[in-house]
Amino acid sequence: MPEPRKVIIIGSGPAGLTAAIYAARANLEPLMFEGYGAGGQLMLTTDVENYPGFPTGVQGPDLMLALREQAERFGTEIVTADVSRVDFSERPFGVWVGDDEYRAEAVIIATGATARWLGLDGEERLRGHGVSSCATCDGFFFKNQPMVVIGGGDSATEEALYLSRIGSHVTLVHRRDTLRASRIMADRVLASDRITVRWNAEVVDALGDGKVEAVRIRDVVTGETEDIPAAAMFVAIGHDPTTGLFVGQLALDDDGYVVADGSRTSVEGVFVAGDVQDRVYRQAITAAGSGCMAAIDAERWLEAHAHQPTGTHA
Ligand code: NDP
Repeated sequence: MPEPRKVIIIGSGPAGLTAAIYAARANLEPLMFEGYGAGGQLMLTTDVENYPGFPTGVQGPDLMLALREQAERFGTEIVTADVSRVDFSERPFGVWVGDDEYRAEAVIIATGATARWLGLDGEERLRGHGVSSCATCDGFFFKNQPMVVIGGGDSATEEALYLSRIGSHVTLVHRRDTLRASRIMADRVLASDRITVRWNAEVVDALGDGKVEAVRIRDVVTGETEDIPAAAMFVAIGHDPTTGLFVGQLALDDDGYVVADGSRTSVEGVFVAGDVQDRVYRQAITAAGSGCMAAIDAERWLEAHAHQPTGTHA
């Protein structure tokens, strides 16, 4: 068995990197597996204007690079690889990259989530240019302009309500004739004169040259298509937490999110942070905050459950 580390961090978005900064500064010499999709969802974002400390905004990838540098500066060892398997049934916990085995007294999971997309051409082409999956992040760029939101759940209704306070008008496009959202959210949407719901409609594509100009929808009952003028299209059809690795290892809820009490998971010594356990806020700053919490909890837990010093990493 290889020499156990004190902490292994899986994932390198704002949650994982903030956990690394705190763990490294607490002398835990963290080992981070950043994955081939290093940096997480912010790597797919352009302007980030709501991350505190950047009055003129920051590019998502630049922010992630700065966090990575900060984590490395205090001694985080970063491995660019996807973890292929974990074993949380005994301590020190096992983490594998292919056949390479690593062991750690504590593990912090920060593997994030990915927004679901419709898989349309225009969606891909215009992402970051009017196509988005985060109203809180990008709504402001389309102030006083018409916008389209897709979906019928709590995310879509929440985004539609949020955007209705920013844009000139919001069209909520839903594929069925009833909303899945909670009653209170649905009622608010239906009562708003700034939101129109297009029932029984599917999105054919986002249209525009370099930026979104319209959203083409098709009525699933009549088959008729229509172009709705819009400066932005927000896709809010759900997120998928990245938890395939943890099936059978940790308690996950019905949607696959890690079940957490604060940063604690169902396995003592395994902590969690960021979007992989958060279906409500999903912001870079909340992910970073929860990464800090996970590192502090891991540090305190290690102190209380200290095993023998672990070789060169002690
Ligand atoms: P949901 O799975 O609840 O809703 C997804 C919506 O998108 C559904 O209306 C679904 O349609 C629609 N949809 C899915 N796939 C497609 C597709 N390919 N084309 C068109 N439409 C599609 O996801 P949410 O992100 O809204 O919510 C996830 C969970 O998070 C829920 O439990 C929700 O309550 C919770 N949440 C809570 C919030 C809060 O408390 N503030 C805020 C946001 C979410 P259909 O209805 O036909 O299946």
